[in-house]
Amino acid sequence: MTATILDGKKLASEIRKELSSKISSLSEGFTPILAVILVGENEASKIYVRNKKKAADEIGMGCEIIELASSIGENALLETIYELNDNPHINGIIVQLPLPPHINPLHILSAISPLKDVDGFNPYNAGLLACKEDNAIISATPKGILRLLKQSGVELSGKHAVVIGRSNIVGRPTSTLLLNQDCTVSITHSHTQNLPEIVKQADIIVAACGCPNLVKKDWVKEGAIVIDVGINKVDNKLCGDVDFTEVSSVASFITPVPGGVGPMTVAMLLENTFEAAIKQQSHHQHQHCKCKHCQS
Ligand code: NDP
Repeated sequence: MTATILDGKKLASEIRKELSSKISSLSEGFTPILAVILVGENEASKIYVRNKKKAADEIGMGCEIIELASSIGENALLETIYELNDNPHINGIIVQLPLPPHINPLHILSAISPLKDVDGFNPYNAGLLACKEDNAIISATPKGILRLLKQSGVELSGKHAVVIGRSNIVGRPTSTLLLNQDCTVSITHSHTQNLPEIVKQADIIVAACGCPNLVKKDWVKEGAIVIDVGINKVDNKLCGDVDFTEVSSVASFITPVPGGVGPMTVAMLLENTFEAAIKQQSHHQHQHCKCKHCQS
């Protein structure tokens, strides 16, 4: 079997095109705006933020980057978030991770208004997702993974999904999202015993552990769908957590790295911001709205 490629680059470009036309048809004077807070000088973070701004610019979405010194205190950073929460022109707020070690990310992410939390990292949104509530803002990478799985056209209900990794930003929310799709989900991590045997039982594999080429051909059941979230650099070349060359000979569908989950993550962030903007607009237009902007 030679796997069909789930082309995240192509799908993401289609989603961005659709968003672009939706934005251009919004009423004049209303442009969704994403605020990105970047703390410190992490080079990888700067590249990610630049890419997000470029993607927003290309679809006519506003993107304000707020650069803060790594020495900033937790309280000052919280103040910045409260101001953005209160600013009616800002529709989405994200804080680029990682933060400097003296700042507790949970304190910061919890302070973002759930309505503007377009990364879906506020525990309130994570909780809504866990409760299978439709109004949860779902974080971009898991949401992009689900879109790629749907692209395969394969029915997800009843399938055994094995997720490798349990981080708050990828493994956990992806597992929850797949559970909400009626998959039977096994969550694995660095303490899991017999990982290859567990992975071999999977109809769907999501590899998100940051271990270059970890998943080998003999870990994969013939016909499994393989989503590779990993972004690793080996010998200055990007690779995922799945040995693509080997595994694509047994999988039915597989995502490449680069060009798989990565571009979908950015597209889903833009989609979340657009959707948040529309919700906020109707909230403010609501005649009974008691928020201070509608009362002033
Ligand atoms: P984390 O380092 O936060 O989490 C890694 C997870 O993998 C942990 O749960 C860890 O277990 C588990 N793990 C580590 N080694 C093994 C192993 N040998 N076997 C089984 N499980 C293991 O990483 P992230 O979740 O943030 O990211 C994972 C990967 O995805 C990275 O390569 C990252 O660059 C990439 N990524 C890609 C994105 C995209 O858009 N394509 C977006 C975000 C991340 P334990 O909990 O026990 O430590």
